[in-house]
Amino acid sequence: MVVELKDFYEKFRDPKAIKALSKAINQEAQKLDHPINIMEVCGGHTHTIMKYGLLQLLPKNIRFIHGPGCPVCIMPKERIDHAYILAMQEDVILCTLGDMIKVPGSRGSLQDARSKGADVRFVYSPLDVLKIAKENPTKKIIFFAIGFETTTPMTAALIENALKQNIKNIFYHINHVTVPEVMRELIDSRDEHIDSYNNQIDAFLGPSHVSVITGSKIYEEFPTKYKRPVVVAGFEPVDVMEGVLMIIRQFLEDRCEVEIQYKRSVNRDGNLNAQKLIEKYFEKRELFKWRGLGNIPKSAWRLKDEYEHLDAEKLYSLPKEEIEDHKLCICGDILRGMAKPTECQVFGTACTPQKPLGSCMVSSEGACAAYYKYGNLLQEVQ
Ligand code: SF4
Ligand code: SF4
Repeated sequence: MVVELKDFYEKFRDPKAIKALSKAINQEAQKLDHPINIMEVCGGHTHTIMKYGLLQLLPKNIRFIHGPGCPVCIMPKERIDHAYILAMQEDVILCTLGDMIKVPGSRGSLQDARSKGADVRFVYSPLDVLKIAKENPTKKIIFFAIGFETTTPMTAALIENALKQNIKNIFYHINHVTVPEVMRELIDSRDEHIDSYNNQIDAFLGPSHVSVITGSKIYEEFPTKYKRPVVVAGFEPVDVMEGVLMIIRQFLEDRCEVEIQYKRSVNRDGNLNAQKLIEKYFEKRELFKWRGLGNIPKSAWRLKDEYEHLDAEKLYSLPKEEIEDHKLCICGDILRGMAKPTECQVFGTACTPQKPLGSCMVSSEGACAAYYKYGNLLQEVQ
């Protein structure tokens, strides 16, 4: 018998399994003495929840709060402007990943830069940049690196390979961010400014692919210091539902710990080689501004000083001033877990995926885009 990839996934999308988990969740949730708000930190989880209509399958006392886990959504306009300015340099080819090309900065998006003649390329993997650099030896190739812990080792591998192969025309603008620091910020800001940042996070659903690299250990402070359980869950609907059930059971059994639902590839320690590679080339920035969330200490990486000759942020004069978001856009509140996309005045009218005003609508993993795409399912729930 030939086993295809789709067979492997189908097990985790099986409607019967999802329904059985929904039944178990509904039964267990009846025993709770208070509602539980679960933040799914990652946009990938938001997408699964919306796509498979999981909100409909949960009882009213279990709620999801969508989190800030999408590298495109949280990129502030000033850094998108950096990408735009770099792309507009005559001798530059700017490469980046994902939906970054569509996000508007204050001067326009990378797509706009491209329509003005800039050479902007979308790559599937950072290592594709090596080929572009070899094919264009007279150009400067700038890799605008984005992503959480999942993509950071790939950028480190690109640097390592370029150095080993003596390729001298690749430069880097590093925007890699880290998950635990933003989770901490969400809890601290709530606990310190309860009136203004009244998100109600009781537990976290942690993204599995981040923990494939870091291990589940990065979340251990949340149960101990912050009294919030964390379950590291996969991205298929069965994974998410099982993760929710595990969180409910922790509350019922008066436990508060880090648990791994996604045992298929996550353990406590993660991928030590990937962690070593990251530490070889990067160190933490003192502060990094997240869109809508402000400056968060030690929440992003930069190139170590010994590699500053490769650092596009240092080699080019790039503006430093902060830029406000569109006045009507409430992406900041959405990323803090304080508002739902449908509470935005311009959701689905002035702001759509075709003409986005804010980053949460641009990124395919953004909460606004997920609500827009799967809105019919949502109406049935409300
Ligand atoms: S980058 Fe990773 S953590 Fe962020 S939204 Fe995408 S999948 Fe989730
Ligand atoms: S709908 Fe558009 S403008 Fe409103 S919060 Fe979402 S991205 Fe921002």
